[in-house]
Amino acid sequence: MAERLIYVGLDVGGTTMKAAAVGDDGSPLSAPVVMDTNPERGQEAGLETMCETIRRAVAAARLTLADVTAIGVVTPGLMDIKAGLILDPPNLKPWKNVPVRDHVRAAFQKPTVYQNDANAAAYGEFWVGSGQAASSMVLFTLGTGVGGGIILGDAIVEGEHSHGGELGHLRIDLPDRGRLCGCGARGCLEAYASATNVVKRAREDLAAWRGPTKLKQFYSANDDEFTAKDVFDLAADGDALAVKVADDTAYYLALGACAVIATVDPEMIVFGGGMVAAGEWFRAAIETYVKRFGLPFPTRTVKIAFASLGSDAGFIGAAGCARLGMKGKA
Ligand SMILES: [Zn+2]
Repeated sequence: MAERLIYVGLDVGGTTMKAAAVGDDGSPLSAPVVMDTNPERGQEAGLETMCETIRRAVAAARLTLADVTAIGVVTPGLMDIKAGLILDPPNLKPWKNVPVRDHVRAAFQKPTVYQNDANAAAYGEFWVGSGQAASSMVLFTLGTGVGGGIILGDAIVEGEHSHGGELGHLRIDLPDRGRLCGCGARGCLEAYASATNVVKRAREDLAAWRGPTKLKQFYSANDDEFTAKDVFDLAADGDALAVKVADDTAYYLALGACAVIATVDPEMIVFGGGMVAAGEWFRAAIETYVKRFGLPFPTRTVKIAFASLGSDAGFIGAAGCARLGMKGKA
């Protein structure tokens, strides 16, 4: 019997880290093990928690370390992928220059691959998710920010400085008058289409809105708080203002997608994260704008889809990166 190939994927986030052993076909061998990251406790403690999460993931799958072929660790940026270093990520403060890959490799004596979390999520979708049948795929992940990943052939586009696929910072509006982005520039996609900015735009639109909208009632009934999900839920109900805000979001995302189509001409563009709960009409709206504004030839056949792995894409993609490091997708 051939040796069973097993990869452990660890997805380190600012709040929690999540790991599972994953088979050669991309199926997790147990539910993921989740531990608190507690970055404020320092990077030594962080590295130890990473190793403990990996150990528990192996145990959760009723395996031993001897069964593990390779390990993949993914984190948010800033990072140096080639050097295996976490540099100075805003959501892992006060960590700085943490040698993640070499630490994990030394602790387990296994081949260890390090990757950006959004790139890994894209690879996960490409390997066993929505992009499984595609030969090239781009992922936009919609959350507090807008992340991205580009997979061409069986390769992740990391870029020379580990900043390939930073799709949230595609410029979709003029840099001297566009909306201000968290990166300090104006006109980035993220400044329009992240969950945070969907809420900001909804508040602005609401201030100028003269027609009826449940968003107004929500606004007063819920202590002035609503979320991007509320906007999309109301849009699904047909609320006119919420539909406008959601449709504008589809338009902005499509502009980002058109820029990517003109750059790498992928077979498929996948959208993941909270807003995909809005459903098929939102996907169709993005597709309509892509076909209207994108390069005519590639947009005729480019596939626009929602992600299918949900929040598991990170650790499955991390395992996929470990596998890619050993043998590639085939
Ligand atoms: Zn930006």
